[in-house]
Amino acid sequence: MLNLVLFGPPGAGKGTQSQKLIEKYGLIHLSTGDLLRGEISQGTALGLEAKKLMDHGVLVPDEVVIGMISNKLDANKDAKGFIFDGFPRTVAQATALDELLKSKSSAISGMIALEVNDDELEHRLLLRGKESGRPDDANPEVIRKRIKEYNDKTAPVADFYKNQNKFKSINGIGSISEIFDAIGTVVDAY
Ligand code: ADP
Repeated sequence: MLNLVLFGPPGAGKGTQSQKLIEKYGLIHLSTGDLLRGEISQGTALGLEAKKLMDHGVLVPDEVVIGMISNKLDANKDAKGFIFDGFPRTVAQATALDELLKSKSSAISGMIALEVNDDELEHRLLLRGKESGRPDDANPEVIRKRIKEYNDKTAPVADFYKNQNKFKSINGIGSISEIFDAIGTVVDAY
C-alpha cells in the first residue's frame, strides 16, 4: 500500500494537492476536517460538539478523530492506499495511526510537508474565507489561533516521522502544478 501523510499548516494547500494525488495515484483521500464538516452538516451529536471547537480554531479531541479514521480504514479494506490530510495533528494521533495500520499489516510510506510562511497562510485563509464561507476562515483571530495550535501541537508530529526517516519537505509557495511536480518526485520514489 501507498500511505501518504500530507502535512502543513492551515492554508498550506493540502486539500488542493490531495485532489491531484488521488487522481494520479488512485488513493483514497481521508481529510479529518472534511469528515468533521460532514458531521456538522448532518447535525450529528459529534458534529455539534466539534463545531464549538472548530469555530474557535481549537483541535477536537484525539479520540474523536482517531475513531473516524479507524472507521474509514475499515470501510475501505481493498484500497491501494490512503492520503491522510489534516491527520495526524498530534503525536498521540500519529502513534494511534501507526497502531491502526500495523493491525492491517500496513504502514505509513512517508510524510510530505508543505512549507509556507505565516503571512502567506493568513492571506490565503482570509481569501478562502471570502470564497468558501467557511466560518473558521473568515475571522483573523480564529486563523491566528489555528496557526498557534499548529505550532504548539501539530509541528512536533514532523519529528515523529523524521525519527522514522519518513519526512520530506516541499516548498509550498509556487504554482499548483510546480508544487504537485515536486510532490510527485517524492511519491514516485516510494
Ligand atoms: P485547516 O487545515 O485549514 O485548518 P481542516 O479542514 O483540516 O482545515 O481543519 C479544520 C478544523 O477541524 C481544525 O481547526 C480543527 O478544529 C478540526 N480538526 C481537523 N482535523 C483534526 C484533527 N486531526 N485533530 C483535531 N482536530 C481536527
